Amino acid sequence: MAPLVDPFGRLITYVRVSVTDRCDMRCVYCMSEDMNFLPKRDLLSLEELDRLCTAFIGRGVHKLRITGGEPLVRRNIMSLFRRLSRHLESGALSELTLTTNGSQLAPHAAELAAIGVRRLNVSLDTLDPVKFRAITRWGDHAQVMAGVDAAQQAGISVKINMVALKGVNDFEIAPMLKWAHGRGLDLTLIEVMPLGAIDAERVDQYLPLSLVEARLADHFTLLPVDYKTGGPARYVRIKETGGRLGFITPLTHNFCEGCNRVRVTCTGTLYMCLGQEDAADLRAPLRASQSDALLHEALEAAIARKPKGHDFVIERTGATPAVSRHMSVTGG
Ligand code: SAM
Ligand code: SF4
Repeated sequence: MAPLVDPFGRLITYVRVSVTDRCDMRCVYCMSEDMNFLPKRDLLSLEELDRLCTAFIGRGVHKLRITGGEPLVRRNIMSLFRRLSRHLESGALSELTLTTNGSQLAPHAAELAAIGVRRLNVSLDTLDPVKFRAITRWGDHAQVMAGVDAAQQAGISVKINMVALKGVNDFEIAPMLKWAHGRGLDLTLIEVMPLGAIDAERVDQYLPLSLVEARLADHFTLLPVDYKTGGPARYVRIKETGGRLGFITPLTHNFCEGCNRVRVTCTGTLYMCLGQEDAADLRAPLRASQSDALLHEALEAAIARKPKGHDFVIERTGATPAVSRHMSVTGG
């Protein structure tokens, strides 16, 4: 079938699928402590998620990221990975990956590797267990470390995602860099995005990565590299460590131009842009018939509405977030 191309000529080759909005942590920038999660009946079944992913793959999507919420807390999630691995075997999919908080990674790492997961992202904002608990509210640092160890032992490349938080981990970025590169892990820094209501003020959390980069340049040599993973990060190589450092800077530097991605929530809602409200329901066409004809029609109609970009701004207005849904709904 014809590939999915948006009105700006961007080919859609990368889909992120949030398989649950639930999580065993409550990171302060992501969720409020007291979250209302979706009723289970609203969720797509694992079979439906497989059908949906397969439809995208049939349209030229070759990279799939499973995310959430915390993907590894969804019951029986490994059966979805197992099913999807047939697309790796056929060559239709070049990469099957996930973003995880790492809490449940240790017991799953070996199987993920066996299925064909070659790389994954673990979110880790600090190396200090006490601070880790404060940021994640419910997380256990040692469990995440065990997850990283297990993934590496299984031969999976791990990239650490660190959200830069003003007044919280500003001065841990250099130590994190040394730790990650010392262990052969890539590190990507992320700016806080105004997604969903939380208990804190975003403007108090927001640390522009332009500032971080300037501070790092006082201690390290940042060499630009032409490395791309299909995601929005811009990478440099750190001469002193030899490792790679990525910057995801939706606020200081708009990353929309080369956007090849769409996101699907666990209820089958397709968001054509992380930073816009417009969405398309894929669950109804998926459930309306066993054939995928309606689903493909819905996909084409949705991609034809993919916007040029987001318009995130973080202002001290006490205003509502740019986008009302949380990152845990759309999937990071
Ligand atoms: N639970 C998994 C995890 O934490 O890796 C996967 C989902 S989480 C929503 C995906 C990524 O989004 C994480 O790296 C997290 O740090 C990031 N994230 C969550 N809320 C964010 C926000 N408001 N701004 C920027 N990044 C955010
Ligand atoms: Fe959970 Fe990930 Fe959100 Fe943290 S960032 S609360 S681990 S979904």
